[in-house]
Amino acid sequence: AIEISGLHKSFGANEVLRGIDFRVDAGEVVCVIGPSGSGKSTLLRCVNLLEEPSAGTVRVAGAEVTDPDVDIDAVRRRIGMVFQSFNLFPHLTALGNVAVAQRKVLRRGKRDAERIARENLERVGLADKVGAYPAQLSGGQQQRVAIARALAMGPEVMLFDEPTSALDPELVGDVLGVMRGLAEAGMTMLVVTHEMSFAREVADRVAFMDGGVIVEQGEAARMVTDPDHERTREFLSRVL
Ligand code: ATP
Ligand code: MG
Repeated sequence: AIEISGLHKSFGANEVLRGIDFRVDAGEVVCVIGPSGSGKSTLLRCVNLLEEPSAGTVRVAGAEVTDPDVDIDAVRRRIGMVFQSFNLFPHLTALGNVAVAQRKVLRRGKRDAERIARENLERVGLADKVGAYPAQLSGGQQQRVAIARALAMGPEVMLFDEPTSALDPELVGDVLGVMRGLAEAGMTMLVVTHEMSFAREVADRVAFMDGGVIVEQGEAARMVTDPDHERTREFLSRVL
């Protein structure tokens, strides 16, 4: 589970997160939607300490991430993160990209790392691309390599920040399909996305963020079709 309580984050005088209380239970999929600048990425980045919260606590799988004595590397190992940009090493193959963090961070041997890399590339539908370099892959394939790379670390939760926003429309479906498979396999997922059909069909819950707070959250189908708040309705009318 991911448990967030009283979370605040300011950049100088700009208070970007203004008190977030929020949880994602083990095995649950929650989508976060909301306008640009509402704090969605900052929320995700506070969960794996890419940003240091100004106040509040975050727990992941029972461990307090915000404990000042925490081993940040140990925390990050439990949390997979996928960004809009894939950030693959251009000089490494798909296999190399998925193996390298396992070797450096988890100190896995080459054989184990490559075996686990192959398994995860297969899982994202890229068994035939293990030897390809990023430049030889489509954006959707590169994003699936990035997902395989995160999965190979054996994370307890996965965070996705608009994983399909940089993709050509015809490549979005493959990536969402992989994410749907992960959700069905029981992965705990927190997903920032504007893909409302994914939110409706795959998420258990949807949370709407605006101005650094979660304005409302609820069961996915209802949130998408019949939200309580006017701000949510207005946002949905623009993205649907
Ligand atoms: P988008 O939909 O455009 O990705 P978002 O909801 O993810 O938006 P954030 O990226 O979390 O929004 O940004 C929220 C606010 O925090 C913005 O006003 C942004 O300028 C500010 N902000 C984010 N990161 C930093 C930073 N490192 N330094 C200063 N301000 C920042
Ligand atoms: Mg963002």
